[in-house]
Amino acid sequence: MPNSLIYADHAATTPVRPEVLEAMLPYFSAQYGNPSSLYRLGRQAKAALEEARAKIAHCLHGAPEEIFFTSGGSEGDNWAVKGMALADKESGKSHLVTTVFEHPALLESCRFLERQGCRVSYLPVSSTGFVTAKQVEEVVTPDTCLVSVMYANNEIGTVQPVREISALCRAKGIPFHTDAVQAAGWLPIDVQAQNIDLLTLSAHKLGGPKGIGVLYCRKWLSLSPLIHGGKQENSRRAGTENVAGAVGLAKALELAGQEQIKRSQSTAEKRDWMEGELSTLTGCLVNGANPRLPGHLNLSFPGVEGESLLLVLDAQGIAASSGSACSSGSGNPSHVLLALGRSEKEAKGSLRLSIDETLSWEDCRRLVQAVKSAVEMLRFDA
Ligand SMILES: *Cc1c(COP(=O)(O)O)cnc(C)c1O
Repeated sequence: MPNSLIYADHAATTPVRPEVLEAMLPYFSAQYGNPSSLYRLGRQAKAALEEARAKIAHCLHGAPEEIFFTSGGSEGDNWAVKGMALADKESGKSHLVTTVFEHPALLESCRFLERQGCRVSYLPVSSTGFVTAKQVEEVVTPDTCLVSVMYANNEIGTVQPVREISALCRAKGIPFHTDAVQAAGWLPIDVQAQNIDLLTLSAHKLGGPKGIGVLYCRKWLSLSPLIHGGKQENSRRAGTENVAGAVGLAKALELAGQEQIKRSQSTAEKRDWMEGELSTLTGCLVNGANPRLPGHLNLSFPGVEGESLLLVLDAQGIAASSGSACSSGSGNPSHVLLALGRSEKEAKGSLRLSIDETLSWEDCRRLVQAVKSAVEMLRFDA
């Protein structure tokens, strides 16, 4: 089957794993109760929801009452930032610290808060894609109500020194949030050992369904709700719970945890081989240095139009991305690549491949061959 789909866009979304789908199915049909209902059907749904919460808490090394179900990564990031800023309004703390290369859900929440009178420090990143604890130390003040630094970047995969940054925040008594949407399933998460106070997860990036995520929030923090109404989620997030989604997220996280080391190794092996093959192309730049997520490979081919590259690959049954799914289609060069100091031309000629362990070696070779010939062809055109 020479033209079977090669999916190299796992950072955009992942297929739901069969075990996850199977675990979810009863909650769409026989077990359709509302967890807030008092009769048996409702209690059964409630039990499934709480079992999912406990499993997720166990995976993160947190407590079940610190797990809040959300609609996904964007809501988690919005809630962490706005919820902390709102809760601290009375105390007068209105300064936030983050980085220039966060996900738009985080950045736009910060920009919203700036319009409401908060002050935000956006830390620059190095040319290889990292921030340091020292940078954080230089900007925090007694007014800082939150530091938010992503665990791993969605476009280039660089893994940030979360442990050093969180240790600094803990020492200064400042709550620390991390967007772990990309890291989950690939890197260990331990909110205790890593001193993480708030953490965002999204199921569809790790083999679970779309539309469900978690915001982890420490018991002692006061976090203002964003969605008001009923008393669900300990009165912090109103709305009838997504029971099937919660069950699916718990299952996906459990499976990913069991397989993490093995799948990370085999994925990195394939990614490294592809990087070796593609980085030798004339003018090719590799965006982001190690430590990186195992499946991420972000390359720039200056002079090649990234969107054209994607179309040529698509015609051959290859799904890849230029930068992130959120910024593609906008025509603007990636804010992440510009933050690394890449020129507009370099940023526009970028290709993000994000693979997982299920990509066969045969498909790795086909992918490399297709990228090589597409780049040669498009460059010739230019
Ligand atoms: C995908 C992604 C999000 C948004 O998650 P959704 O569930 O799609 O809203 C947030 N942060 C990062 C790093 C992501 O990769």
